[in-house]
This record gives sequence, C-alpha cells and structure tokens, in this order.
Amino acid sequence: MALPGLAELKQLKPGFNLFSAEQDIQLGREAVPELQKQMTVVHNREVDSYLSLLLHKLEKSTYARTLGRDGSRGELFPFSMHAVSDKKINAFSLPGGPVFINTGAIQEADNAAQLAGVIAHEMSHVVLRHMTNQASKRELVTLPAVLAGAVTGHSLLGQLAQVGIVFTANSALLKFSRSDEEQADYNGAEMMADAGYNPIEMARFFEKLEEKGGRAGAFEEFLSDHPNPGNRIAAISDEVGEMPRRNYVDDETGQLAHVREIVRHMAGPAKVAGGSPAPSESPSKELATFEGRTFSLRYPGNWQVQRGDGPDAVTIAPRGGLLPESVGYGLQANYFAGDANALIHRLQKENIDMRIAGEARNIDVAGQPAILNTLDSRSPYGGSEVDVLVTVARPEGLLYIVFIAPKSEFEKIQPVFEDVLRSVRFR
Ligand SMILES: [Zn+2]
Repeated sequence: MALPGLAELKQLKPGFNLFSAEQDIQLGREAVPELQKQMTVVHNREVDSYLSLLLHKLEKSTYARTLGRDGSRGELFPFSMHAVSDKKINAFSLPGGPVFINTGAIQEADNAAQLAGVIAHEMSHVVLRHMTNQASKRELVTLPAVLAGAVTGHSLLGQLAQVGIVFTANSALLKFSRSDEEQADYNGAEMMADAGYNPIEMARFFEKLEEKGGRAGAFEEFLSDHPNPGNRIAAISDEVGEMPRRNYVDDETGQLAHVREIVRHMAGPAKVAGGSPAPSESPSKELATFEGRTFSLRYPGNWQVQRGDGPDAVTIAPRGGLLPESVGYGLQANYFAGDANALIHRLQKENIDMRIAGEARNIDVAGQPAILNTLDSRSPYGGSEVDVLVTVARPEGLLYIVFIAPKSEFEKIQPVFEDVLRSVRFR
C-alpha cells in the first residue's frame, strides 16, 4: 500500500525561488572559502577521491539534475565534495553544488550505500534548491531589491549578509522543513537506485541516527538540520517497493573500510569549547612495568595502560592523555611491518597535518641501534604537538615507540620520556 505522500512526491516541482540557478552557483562558490575558515576541511587524497567516486556515480542519475517547472530535468550543478574533520554525525550542502560531510558521518556508515545515501540526500537539497527557496520565502520583501541591485563582480554572499541573509555555517537556512526533507529523501533514493546503490540503506542510516539520537549528542545535529518528516523510514521503504527490482552491488565496501580507518585517526576540531584540557597531573616518581611479549619498559605509576591488538601493542598515557579518537599525551608502542620511512609515511597518511620536524638521529635502545625521528602535528588540545618516533629493527619486525605531547608541554615531559626509553629491555 502506497503512503499518501508518494503520489505527490512523484509530481515533484521546484519551490518558489527569487534566485537564478546561476546565483545559487555563485553563492555556493563564495561560501566555500568562508566555511573553510570556520571548520577544518580535510585534505586527504584518498578520502577526497573516494567521496568523489560516490559523487560521480550519483551524478549520472537524472535525479541529480535541476528540476524545471514542468517536472523536466535540466543541467547538472557543479557538485563538489568536502570532508570536514568533526566527530559529530552531520552533513550539509550549499546552494549550487558544494556538499560537506563530517568525518563522524563517514565513520558511522556501515556500507558504501549508506554513505552514498547521505550524499544523495544532500545533493537533492541542492538540486531542489531548498536553501534559496527558503530564503526567497522568508525574505520576500527584501530580496527582490537586493538581487535587482546586486553588483556584478561583487560578492553576492556579502551583499546578502549586509541585509542579514546568511548562507554559511549555522545559517537558519541549513535547517530544512519537513517537506524539504521528504523531497530530499524521495529524490535521493531515486538517485541512489540509478547509481546502483540500494536506497533502503539510506533509510537504515537514518534509522540508526534516530535510535542513537536520544543518547548521544553527536547524532542530534543531523536530525535537527534534517528533521524526520514523520514517517521517513516507511516513506523510503514504500518508494523502494514501487521501484523496478534491481540487483544492487556494493563494490566499494573495502574502500570505505580503508577511508573509515583514515578518518578514524584524524583529530577532531582543535580545542573545541568545553573540550578536555591537556593532562595536568605530574607523572609519579614511582614506576610501573609494562611486560610485552618481546620487550618491557617502565613508566610513571600513575599513568594508565591500554593494551592494543597484539601482545606488544600498548598505549600508556596520563589521565586525560588518551582521547576517544587519538592520543594527545603519552606514548604508544607496537611492531610495524616495514621500515621507518614506510612507518612515517603511514603516520602521515593517518594524521593529515603531520610533518617531519628534524633530521633523523641514530641512537641506542637497550644496546641496539635505533633511529629517532622528530615529527610535529596538530595537538587535539589545540596548538601543535611533538611526536618523537623511535624505531628499532628487531627479528620480529620494526618496534616503534612514539612519544606524544603538546609542544608547550614537551620540554617539561622530555626527561620522563627519556627515562622510559632507557628502561626498554628486550627478551
Ligand atoms: Zn535534509
């Protein structure tokens, strides 16, 4: 049985709009650099190329094209994908094509189709021109004069901001109406099916957000920007039921796992208000011993030990040093299959801002030749972070110990790290 909304959605028509499609594109273009100042946009080749791969598949659908008054489909907006380093599960788009997706949303997707579903939903807000439609409805009196008097060659975004119409982050225009949401779900599901993704996964993703929404703050933002029109999951399922049966392939799931792994290691936004401060408790003089399978070391007794996947994988950190997504203060040890350069390469891939900060030095660890590399990256507490990477070639592989602290704290903690390194013993 079809829900009453579906017949209506099939007759999808563009909303009232005082802007031209070209003005949508101009607004989006002008807003991207503004947003990049307000949030941390990720520049990682693998993440970007994966998101673009999903985008290009979706772009092939006619549902990715502009909608005419008579329901016909026209041009393709110049879509672009931008990943934002933020643990909150959210995504949003700007008029004329830019789509932003938080690393938290990438993390939460169980499969490529779910991620494609979020992108297709956002692209649909662009295609259906929901933001400029909302602005047109709200600013019915002001807008015609501004748009008529808009000086070409000047920022349209700026001219609108002067009369209080804001298109960047936290804009009221990013919060869509329930009927906008119904339309974006409907149009997005069609787009997904055309691209070979099972649209039911879009519903599953929303279902997951709804289930977790009450518990974790991270989920609320998406639902407040994209409110549930009331029967979201039933509506999408109903639409899928009317689609011709297709075989959906999920051929990028391996790639998604890889991309998820990359974004998992990215730090969240630097120093968010209310975020945890760097550890302040002094390391105790009493030492404790970590016994791995092939080595041991001693560390301040008030630091906490978290064992990793293997018997020699460990993170040891003071209280507050081990953050949900990364280690901001403390040390990590493990074996790596490859040489020191390959390890540094891997670390740089996982930590987008990591740079080599000094010459490699030859040192001695428990009588064995070792190499010390100094790297820096962005600290999750804000400011920069020092990462001292010590590697020792062992019969079992390359043992590495990385010592991590905010740059402002490093000098103070360095003697403690040196004591740890001197305490290393091989079996
Ligand atoms: Zn939405």
